[in-house]
Amino acid sequence: MDGKHSSSRSSHLLLQKIRGFTRSIIEDLSHGLSPVIYINRFRNYCTDVSGNCYCSHDSVKGVEILTLQRECHARRLDILLRVLLIVQQLLQENRHGSKRDIYYMHPSVFREQSVVDRAINDICVLLKCSRHNLNVVCNALIFLFLLVMGWLRFSEVDRIFNCINQPDTAHSIPVLVEEVKDIISVADYILVVEKESVFQRLANDCFCKKNHCIVITGRGYPDIPTRRFLRLLIEQLHLPTYCLVDCDPYGFDILTTYRFGSMQMAYDAKIMKLPEIKWLGVFPSDTEKYNVPQQCLLPMTTEDKIKTEAILNRCYLQREEPQWRLELQLLLQSGVKFEIEALSVHSLTLLSKQYLPSKIQGMLSESPLQMRELCDEDD
Ligand SMILES: [Zn+2]
Repeated sequence: MDGKHSSSRSSHLLLQKIRGFTRSIIEDLSHGLSPVIYINRFRNYCTDVSGNCYCSHDSVKGVEILTLQRECHARRLDILLRVLLIVQQLLQENRHGSKRDIYYMHPSVFREQSVVDRAINDICVLLKCSRHNLNVVCNALIFLFLLVMGWLRFSEVDRIFNCINQPDTAHSIPVLVEEVKDIISVADYILVVEKESVFQRLANDCFCKKNHCIVITGRGYPDIPTRRFLRLLIEQLHLPTYCLVDCDPYGFDILTTYRFGSMQMAYDAKIMKLPEIKWLGVFPSDTEKYNVPQQCLLPMTTEDKIKTEAILNRCYLQREEPQWRLELQLLLQSGVKFEIEALSVHSLTLLSKQYLPSKIQGMLSESPLQMRELCDEDD
């Protein structure tokens, strides 16, 4: 009930802000003045490899000034006001709409989805809120994107998701993360995997049942509900969280999206980053350790190398995860990449029976408190 009250309070506040914003534009116009709109700009990284910059402070990094004098600005303002009007209706009627729904309300004006997406981001910055506060959800299909299994139980509105009954059965996750309540878990950790194929492999191997964990996949680049759901789990369950991605620049970029958030959503970085997440693998050095044969290693393309170099230049790596940067340098030097599935070359169950348990054991022994607990058990 608290959730409902606070969400209607936030809608009320946003509606007031929307009215204030449009009123000031109309007042300017009625006085013969050209309205000027200031939109703060945020970024979550820059290319200062020393890391001695201010990207870690979630503060404004610049301001964009829109005026009617420039035609492209006038068009942007037109779009912004159209989207704002739709958002106002959603809030007034307490309904949710997807970004795609909004696009189809004026397709000939918007012309492409990215225009709507940018307007929504601008509105979040102007109103100082997150996208979900606007009652705008991801595109409807993305609803099915996040999969979860393991020792977890929660409710969403009037549905109960009881994954514990069958911990190795996949459940797709609800879109309204703000309605998720009563999270209960007896898991020891959360494992985030990049790909659905790996998730299915672990389901087939009954990985969760044997390892007392929760496994999640955002199927590639994680969308906002996936990251918000994961954040909710981490905040409420206080469990160690590990991430398993391919050993290539895309896998690594997906890892950084979980860890640091995306540039596009930098204005909402406080909500969108997960500093608790640890990189479990697969590492360039795993090829030797796990005897991955030469034919499973793919040469890095020119595009791969450019992408890797660009990621290497991101300031947050040097500042917050220098070890990750070293691994990435190693990837670039080796000139080869490989997928998680390459570990299955000798045995299909190597991933679930050897690789993951030994990696997680290794991570636990890095934490002094948990190491002591393990020693006590041995006694
Ligand atoms: Zn920076």
